[in-house]
Amino acid sequence: MTQRGRILSRHLTSDGVVVWSRCACGRLRMDLVPAAGGAGLGAGPCPHRGGGHASSVSS
Ligand SMILES: [Zn+2]
Repeated sequence: MTQRGRILSRHLTSDGVVVWSRCACGRLRMDLVPAAGGAGLGAGPCPHRGGGHASSVSS
């Protein structure tokens, strides 16, 4: 439960698990985690998918 963002719901589909989550930036995000494994797909307006580090350089 320490992932960035917050999972709102999960739906099991024939392709895998569709996860809706709210990113730390506040945007809604959808990710498909393939049942067969491998890289997931992401969709949504948020660019911070994939657990990437939204690096805000504080000077
Ligand atoms: Zn985001």
